[in-house]
Amino acid sequence: MTPQIVEIRVLPEQASKSEVLEKQLCKKLRWESIQKSQYRILKKSLDARKNPIIFRFRIEVSANGFEEENVTKFPTPGDQSAVIVGFGPAGMFAALELLKNGVKPIVIERGKEVSKRRRDLVSIFRDREVNPDSNYCFGEGGAGTFSDGKLYTRSKKRGDIQDVLQTFVDHGAKPEIVYEAHPHIGTNKLPGIVQNIRESIIKLGGEVRFDTKLTDIILENGKICGAETSNGLIPTNHIILATGHSARDIFELLHNRDIAIEAKPFALGVRIEHPQDMIDRAQYKCERGEFLPPAAYSLVKQVKGRGVFSFCMCPGGIIAPAMTDSNEVVVNGWSPSKRNGEFANSGFVVEIGPNDWKRFGENNPLAAMKFQEKVEGKAFRMGGEDLTAPAQRVGDFLKGKPSPVIQETSYLPGVKSVDLNEVLPGFVHQRIRGAIAAFGKRLKGYDSNAGVLVGVESRTSSPVRIPRDRESLEHPDVHGLYPCGEGAGYAGGIMSAALDGIACARKIGESISAK
Ligand SMILES: Cc1cc2nc3c(=O)[nH]c(=O)nc-3n(C[C@H](O)[C@H](O)[C@H](O)COP(=O)(O)OP(=O)(O)OC[C@H]3O[C@@H](n4cnc5c(N)ncnc54)[C@H](O)[C@@H]3O)c2cc1C
Repeated sequence: MTPQIVEIRVLPEQASKSEVLEKQLCKKLRWESIQKSQYRILKKSLDARKNPIIFRFRIEVSANGFEEENVTKFPTPGDQSAVIVGFGPAGMFAALELLKNGVKPIVIERGKEVSKRRRDLVSIFRDREVNPDSNYCFGEGGAGTFSDGKLYTRSKKRGDIQDVLQTFVDHGAKPEIVYEAHPHIGTNKLPGIVQNIRESIIKLGGEVRFDTKLTDIILENGKICGAETSNGLIPTNHIILATGHSARDIFELLHNRDIAIEAKPFALGVRIEHPQDMIDRAQYKCERGEFLPPAAYSLVKQVKGRGVFSFCMCPGGIIAPAMTDSNEVVVNGWSPSKRNGEFANSGFVVEIGPNDWKRFGENNPLAAMKFQEKVEGKAFRMGGEDLTAPAQRVGDFLKGKPSPVIQETSYLPGVKSVDLNEVLPGFVHQRIRGAIAAFGKRLKGYDSNAGVLVGVESRTSSPVRIPRDRESLEHPDVHGLYPCGEGAGYAGGIMSAALDGIACARKIGESISAK
């Protein structure tokens, strides 16, 4: 009998009870009983549009039961190898995919392994120092390790998405992420998972070298023949460049070597933080209770011809200091797996395009990055030059007056009351005001002084694109160089970076096996 799809709806208090799901399945199918091996959940989503709030399940049922999934086989790598620069999600998944293709990955990562990296994160708020090679963006697992771990993507590569999610599960993530509509791992769980992935790569025959920075690429007749690193030369004909959106030295290196790069649009703004219970009441129209998850939101609005949107919303989360140097202030957000913190935070950003950065040079491929750097430097100075972030209460921001006091926020280095008009470019400031005022009508309290804006949220995506051929995924000027992941402009989050890593590694596998 062919498997069939059954949709069922259950109340939040019943959603974790398999006996309730099974009873409903039997009722729908007119079966007397059902075994666990006869069904599998494909999707679980929360529907809070009407009262009562419900969970919807999409379940595949087979009277004959389901066979165990095939376990991926990894061949022992041969004598072919490739260098992966950067051990973020793109680099990690590229390494695993190279191994599936029988190619040995040599991963170089400028930062430290997770356990040592943690100490550098503490140092940001304790000593007010940012290690330029080990911080929220750099180190084992890249920006993904101390990220929020939301695993959403707009990509449609269904099979690959399930493979990436399953790889996270195989390395310690909860099994539910493979079917949840909005899977989330959480900052407390990610470091262990990342370490487990590293251990798998090494066990399968790959190499991971920490504290090793790419300093140059060696070319011969337009072809890669080596990677120059802070720990010596690695001969290779293939480099996957997965260095993330904050590796400014890599963008400069390529530009100085006359290897084409382009300025790229990104988004800029602030983090907005509210009490989580206020967001819960606004979204659920009732008290959350114990069976509903802390509420999230996703807001988009066109203001004066530009998109303004919430970004990387973290229910029950923390505002993180995400700068990569000691002379800038950059914020981002994360939440633990239970999302049980008292605050809800989200990026709140405006699209930035070529007209905004043209004063840094109309034909300068680093112009968008220079614009980004300038705003981050301003935030640093306005915050008092010690990594304290400039901040303003939401109601005061809308009225255009500095806040006399600011309530406690989750941003550990602390905040200083500042008129954000003096930090953000005028066109960003204006549009954020317009959008918050409009969202206040949708989410009760959103536009009030219960909320705080903390600046600046500027690393939303890369300000540079490194071009590549659509077919071979190689840089058009450099045979054997594969620009990859978020830093190269081909991903905007953990999942898309992982998928892009896989795509680049497959191309290397194909190119090697075609020889
Ligand atoms: C606080 C925070 C929360 C986030 N939350 C989410 C979320 O919930 N969901 C989501 O999808 N995304 C989230 N993100 C974004 C996500 O982490 C990134 O999109 C993703 O990590 C990009 O992957 P990547 O592999 O392309 O690059 P990265 O993760 O940035 O990795 C690049 C790596 O390259 C290394 N590197 C750089 N230069 C060199 C060099 N010269 N030599 C050697 N190594 C180098 C860096 O040290 C880094 O480890 C968050 C990010 C942050 C900072």
